[in-house]
Amino acid sequence: MAQHPSILLKNIKQPGQHTLSGYESRGGYSTIRKVLKMEPAKVTDEVKTSGLRGRGGAGFGCGVKWGFIPKGNTKPVYLINNADESEPGTFKDRVLLELDPHLVIEGMLICAWAVQSNWSCIYIRGEYGYPYTRIKAAVDEAYAKGYLGDNIFGTGFKHHMVVHRGAGAYICGEETALLNSLEGKKGQPRLKPPFFPAAIGLYGCPTIVNNTETLAALPWILENGGKAYAAIGTEKSTGTKLISASGHINKPGVYEIALGYPLLQFIEDECGGIRGGKKLKAVIPGGSSMPVLRADELAGVNIDYESLVKAGSHLGSGGFMVMDETTDMVEVALNVAHFYAHESCGQCTPCREGGHWIEKIFRRIAHGDGLGGDVQLVESICGQVAGHTICAFGEALSWPAQAFIRKFPDEFKHKIGDALVGIRSKRESLNFEYEGAH
Ligand code: SF4
Repeated sequence: MAQHPSILLKNIKQPGQHTLSGYESRGGYSTIRKVLKMEPAKVTDEVKTSGLRGRGGAGFGCGVKWGFIPKGNTKPVYLINNADESEPGTFKDRVLLELDPHLVIEGMLICAWAVQSNWSCIYIRGEYGYPYTRIKAAVDEAYAKGYLGDNIFGTGFKHHMVVHRGAGAYICGEETALLNSLEGKKGQPRLKPPFFPAAIGLYGCPTIVNNTETLAALPWILENGGKAYAAIGTEKSTGTKLISASGHINKPGVYEIALGYPLLQFIEDECGGIRGGKKLKAVIPGGSSMPVLRADELAGVNIDYESLVKAGSHLGSGGFMVMDETTDMVEVALNVAHFYAHESCGQCTPCREGGHWIEKIFRRIAHGDGLGGDVQLVESICGQVAGHTICAFGEALSWPAQAFIRKFPDEFKHKIGDALVGIRSKRESLNFEYEGAH
């Protein structure tokens, strides 16, 4: 098994790590004390040097995003920790929120200082009851000790933090839907432009929205330097990444790997190989909205942003779903389509209607009632949804549907073929009965 640098999960198994005393006993909150003596612009520069990219799914440069706050801004700057982890197959932020919540808070304070924000919010997925109690308790502890409030560590820097629970909508992980939800509006994505909340975000003020994992990497980067972080991984995919591994593997769980790690080696060495000695059939590498890859497409593919794009998929949120040879891909396609049809916010007609059409077609194929031309119909619907909607959800429902029918055409044809035979035999028996009646 390869040795990976442990930046995010280093202390999660240590006793009491979720408490302030446990966190401080291992050096916690020492980095922010140093950071508060640095020029905020230097902190941003260090993060740019590290090459850290957003770990929520989009992979946008973290320091670059901070730099989009308008120069000479006089409005309040808000910081949002996007902990609305709802992508199927993704459960890595949950581990940080539950087991090392002060690491997340320290990372947020570093970001807050860099962008000069006096108010932040942890927007946590509504279903995350236990992670909520852990992160809320940690915020309360930090307030009690003066690590949050009007005079942090006696430096005069003011920063207040709240924890806000979502109400269970997947789309509130989209940053502008999240902001609308926080403002008390429907959790629906905003029209673009403006493209970046860093310019116009919460209540029309500059707002930085970063994923939990992204923020949790900041204490290490500021402690060890951006160059040290950039030395891990590949040239464009720097640092480590948390992978939520699930499916037909022997050891599902959350793993921290150096980006650029060979995908097949990850399945064998870290995940313990395929359950029951069966053969690998397919992998969804970045959460269910990313295109599936067949086993025969995985040779030479590494877990990083560039390699997975080259292979025809994306790293996304690092939700790694492994399927063995017994998996019925039509059923998987139906399951995924059902989820996205249900979670559309309904603003755009192509997404609102198209998602249900795709689900309906996959359902009839799966249930033996498919029609000739159904696969082409799904292709046509996907082509009219992707790129024609307000937010990237249009792609989230089209990409996987297209990938399933393109990568496993025989399984769809086989089920549709069976259905057509079924229809013929029903007609024949009806004819027989009809003729017999005369
Ligand atoms: Fe809502 Fe779908 Fe349009 Fe996104 S693409 S705004 S989820 S209807």
